[in-house]
Amino acid sequence: MIEKTLQVAQEESLVFSNDSFNAHEQVVFCHDKATGLKAIIGIHDTTLGPALGGTRMWNYASEAEAVRDVLRLSRGMTFKASISGLNLGGGKAVIIGDSRKDKTPEMMRKFGEYVNSLSGRYITAEDVGINPDDMVMVKQATDHVTGLPQSMGGSGDPSPVTAYGVFMGMKASSKYLWGKDDLAGKKVLVQGVGHVGETLVKYLTEAGAVVMINDIHDETLNRVADLYKAKIVKGDVYSLDMDIYAPCALGATLNDITIPQLKAKIVAGAANNQLAEENKHGKQLMERDILYAPDFLINAGGLINVYSEIHNIPREDVFKQTEDIYNTTLKIFGRSETEGITTHQAALQTAIERIVAAKSK
Ligand code: NAD
Repeated sequence: MIEKTLQVAQEESLVFSNDSFNAHEQVVFCHDKATGLKAIIGIHDTTLGPALGGTRMWNYASEAEAVRDVLRLSRGMTFKASISGLNLGGGKAVIIGDSRKDKTPEMMRKFGEYVNSLSGRYITAEDVGINPDDMVMVKQATDHVTGLPQSMGGSGDPSPVTAYGVFMGMKASSKYLWGKDDLAGKKVLVQGVGHVGETLVKYLTEAGAVVMINDIHDETLNRVADLYKAKIVKGDVYSLDMDIYAPCALGATLNDITIPQLKAKIVAGAANNQLAEENKHGKQLMERDILYAPDFLINAGGLINVYSEIHNIPREDVFKQTEDIYNTTLKIFGRSETEGITTHQAALQTAIERIVAAKSK
């Protein structure tokens, strides 16, 4: 009986009362037997515009984990668009499966049909496990897609722009904490050297930083290490001697276990939802005097890039707007200090204020 009650409680909390649901406008479950597609599209808030957010393909351990991930990610997109001054809402999609083994062109086209059925309320792009070529397949079924290859008139892979924004956020953090934004000689750990992480390593190397890299794929690690003379680190990397920790793999790496170990004075990276529990872990970082550059603020370069594709904004302007992440980051640190709140709360408040103002117009 107790087990049954527990099971019902767990099932009930899957969506509406799930902490991550957080007032989502719409959640769409997509299944296609023929292609094996199992996808979930989360539309969190469309006050500022259509919900735009990438599609992630990941081999989730359970369906509940996939639901939680898409809901947390789409909510984050709402705040990312808002704080970046873009007229976009927040949405995100996940496809359940191993992108290296399970992904097929037919599956991506089918996914496009589901996106199309939402008539533009949700616009997709790439995220982890998905690349511009996959977006070409999606495009065959819908116009509500961005991040297409440049050869097709699209803005291409958003990752280099994301990396540039993260680099700007990191420089602003250094300026705030150490009085100068020069990263020469700073020891930086980049965790995850995929699309964003690799370009970040490039920027850091050019800036004269001492770069350490970590990834679960040896092939990727060795290639990036050779290319940029970065040092490979493995195992329990959190307690390494470093000035800056840049999470560029998946989320929730700032948690009860890792925060007490961290030697870094700054956390600034590309991964979404780095704080396992926003309030608790934001506070823990603050108490340990570790300056946290809010993820949804400094990783907005990719979103700025795909936004430019919809509005035909030239590439130079995209980089200029992304550069502005530097100033916004400094403003958020200032607000956090003045109001005695965490940097994450300061960024969240700023993003929410814009949405509330738009709602009351
Ligand atoms: P990617 O898949 O190209 O790279 C992720 C890398 O992390 C891979 O090399 C993977 O092997 C590695 N990785 C996975 N788990 C790991 C672990 N436990 N430890 C170490 N390495 C691990 O993805 P990406 O496009 O570079 O995105 C990286 C992160 O940034 C993601 O969280 C993504 O949501 C976020 N992000 C990306 C963009 C973008 O423009 N691509 C924009 C905003 C946010």
